[in-house]
Amino acid sequence: MKKRIVILGSGESGTGAALLAKHAGYDVFVSDRGAIRDAYKKELDAHQIPWEEGRHTNDLVLNADEIIKSPGIPEKSEIMVAVRQKAIPVIGEIEFGWRYAGKCNIVAITGSNGKTTTTELTYHLLKTAGLNVRVGGNIGNSFARMVLDDLQRGAESDASRIFVLEVSSFQLDDIEYFRPRIAMLLNITPDHLDRYEGSLEKYARAKFRITMNQRRGDVFIFNAADPVISEILGTVEYKNSKPKHVAIRKGFYKNGRIAVGKLSFDMTKSRLKGPHNMFNAVCAVRAAVLLGADAEKVQEGLNTFTPPPHRLEVVATLQGVTWINDSKATNVDAVFYALQAMETPTIWIAGGQDKGNDYAPLLPLVGQKVKAIICMGIDNSKILHAFGALNKPMAETRSAEEAVRVAAGFAGPGNTVLLSPACASFDLFKNYEDRGARFREAVLALKN
Ligand code: ADP
Repeated sequence: MKKRIVILGSGESGTGAALLAKHAGYDVFVSDRGAIRDAYKKELDAHQIPWEEGRHTNDLVLNADEIIKSPGIPEKSEIMVAVRQKAIPVIGEIEFGWRYAGKCNIVAITGSNGKTTTTELTYHLLKTAGLNVRVGGNIGNSFARMVLDDLQRGAESDASRIFVLEVSSFQLDDIEYFRPRIAMLLNITPDHLDRYEGSLEKYARAKFRITMNQRRGDVFIFNAADPVISEILGTVEYKNSKPKHVAIRKGFYKNGRIAVGKLSFDMTKSRLKGPHNMFNAVCAVRAAVLLGADAEKVQEGLNTFTPPPHRLEVVATLQGVTWINDSKATNVDAVFYALQAMETPTIWIAGGQDKGNDYAPLLPLVGQKVKAIICMGIDNSKILHAFGALNKPMAETRSAEEAVRVAAGFAGPGNTVLLSPACASFDLFKNYEDRGARFREAVLALKN
């Protein structure tokens, strides 16, 4: 009898895993407690993969030989508790993709902040250098979908293939043998602690799993200036042998140039701004050079890279005021780096759905750089309380339009208005993209 694989959750990763499992000859079933997007339903139907939505039916799930769990599903959910009780083997989609990936080079990138920027930059550098590279994982196409594509093309033994993958800690929770040729750990700051029993160490250890299957000859690039990383680094156990460690230390960025090993690159033509992005660039360049990109092409790639939107994205300069959309800054650390990158007096728009934030680390920077604070959220009490003692003008608003209008009132020529919320967006918006888009629209409407 065919082995039965049940996939829990049917977003991009669940659907990718289902298609790959079907191709690999399994009896496949997809179960999603929420609604499945129409485009994914169509794909599943086209491949005769049965699915259910709005529930998990125990009889259809618990008879699995193996479960592929989507990263959004917590261990404490009812269905996962039942799965664990029956001791059904569970893996994630990244692990499943790895089983079929064949000969290839994987660059896997994790961290609390900077994953998407660094992933896209690494991809862009390798692409510019003319290498055979694709990008996905936690963004864009799932890894399983890309692997399936290669199986269908008969490309699985083409060792020149490179996959640049953004991986989240949730995805790393469910790997077993996944072994990147190059792993990157950018930073570790408190985020998602609700899924790790409130423990920063548990969350950090999940991130370190990115390197646990690496071996001699593989490379682990990490942020040596990050205190949490430094603390855990010495206690990491490798299943086989230790990969080469590449520590990115402070001082790599000076006079508009970044130093990467023995090479040096000009960053003055790059659209990446702020010291945190110089760090991201060092990591990306390291990986690109290791995989054979030549230095001239890397410089060209740095010059031509368009950073992803909603991350310190300059929306417009109107009457001398620069408007910046950093809607993706959903935690305190990201705001810290955003404020650090500000070069002129700043009107700061912040707030939204609080994730248990501690604002104390921001006080000195806000004191130094911020002219006025505009709260944008349903409950702004924590922000009002945290920064009240600085005696800056503060205002409360409840929409992007209102926040932009009030900010415009405070902003004079030479100032910057920065949307960098430190919070999730779900109180007033669909998601951070929606929040950023509304902000952008409201700013552009000021023109008229
Ligand atoms: P992620 O995919 O990890 O969420 P993004 O590249 O989308 O990372 O950036 C998320 C937020 O973090 C943005 O506000 C961005 O400006 C900020 N950021 C980017 N790189 C770093 C870094 N190395 N350290 C701290 N903050 C960063």
